[in-house]
Amino acid sequence: MIAKLKRLQQYYSFNPKTTPPQKVFVEITGACNLRCPLCPRTYSNNKRGNMPKEVFEKVIVDITRDYPDLKLLGFHMFGEITMRNDFDVFVSWARQKLPNTHFGISTTVSLEKKEVVAKLLLPGFDSIGIWPDGFSNDSYAKIRTGGSFTTVKDNIRFLLEERDRLKKFDVAVHVGIIKNMVNQDSTDKFYESFQFVEKFKNTSLVTVDSIDWAGQVPAENVLHAAKDYILKIPKPCSIPFEMLAVSATGDATLCCIDMNLELKIGNIMSDGSISQIWASERAEAIRSSMKRLSPPVLCKKCHSFYKDLTPWPLRNRKRLKIKNRHLIKSFFVDGLNRKNMFL
Ligand code: SF4
Repeated sequence: MIAKLKRLQQYYSFNPKTTPPQKVFVEITGACNLRCPLCPRTYSNNKRGNMPKEVFEKVIVDITRDYPDLKLLGFHMFGEITMRNDFDVFVSWARQKLPNTHFGISTTVSLEKKEVVAKLLLPGFDSIGIWPDGFSNDSYAKIRTGGSFTTVKDNIRFLLEERDRLKKFDVAVHVGIIKNMVNQDSTDKFYESFQFVEKFKNTSLVTVDSIDWAGQVPAENVLHAAKDYILKIPKPCSIPFEMLAVSATGDATLCCIDMNLELKIGNIMSDGSISQIWASERAEAIRSSMKRLSPPVLCKKCHSFYKDLTPWPLRNRKRLKIKNRHLIKSFFVDGLNRKNMFL
C-alpha cells in the first residue's frame, strides 16, 4: 500500500527533465514472418519495414549523450529482429556506445536458417526472450500462425548449444509461454516439452499473462481484457512515466504496445533529441491526461488503466485453473529477473 502511494506521488510530481525513461525500445525492424492472432501487428495497416541506419544511429547517439545510464534498451517493438540480416552490426555498434545498459530482445526464432539464430549471440545482448507460446504442433499453429513448432524447438536447442560452445553463459535465455485461451490449461505440457532448456546454465522457463493489447487484438483470446472486467476502477498507468519506444519510422511513442502510434510524441529525425521529445508538450499532455484519469482512447481500452474489482466468483472460471510455474507480473520482460516473478 505504501509502495503504491509512493508510486502515485512520483507520477504527480513527475518532472521529465529530471526523470529519464527507464526503458527504451527501438524497433530495429518492423518486419515479421508470422501473423499471430494475438499480435496487434496482424490487424494493423501501419506495418513498418527496417529502421533506416541514420534513424538508429540518431537514437543511440541521443541516448548515449542524454541518458548514458539508461537501465534497459530493447531492440524490438512489433518486428522480428532476425528478419533483418544486419541486426548484429547495429546492436554491436550500440553496445560499444552503451556498455552499462541492459540489452534485451524478444524473438520467436522461427526462421529456419541456423546462421541467423547463431547471430543472436554475437552483438552483446544481456537477455534473449524466446516465446514459442505453444506446446505442440497444433497449439503452436493456432498461436504462431506461419511458423513451425519443430523448427522453433530445434532453433532453441541449437542456440543454447551454440551459447555453450562459445561459453557465453552471461547471455540469459528465457523461453516462455504467454498464456491465452489456447494454452492456459496446458502450461504443464509446455514445461514438459521444453524441459531441456533448464539443463543449460542461466536459462529459465517462464509464464506471462496475456494482455489485451489495449483492444488492438480481438479480446476473446486474451486472459486480461479490460472489456471483460465486470467491476473496475480507473488507475494511472505507469508506462508513460517510464518508457519510450521508437518505431522503425523514427516516431516516438510513450508505450511499446502502441502499434498504431496513437501516443506519438514526436519524430526522432524532425522533432529534436530523445530527451527533448521525452519532455515535449505532447508527452506532458499525455501524462497529465493519465494523472486526471482521462488518457487517450487507446489507454481507456487497456487493462493497465484499470483495477479489476470483479469478485472472484464472477470472473472467468477458466482463469482460476491456470497452473503457473513462474508467472511474471510484468509483460515488459526484456530485463527479466526473478524479482519480477511470482513463484
Ligand atoms: S494504459 Fe495501456 S496503452 Fe496506455 S500507456 Fe498504459 S500500457 Fe500503454
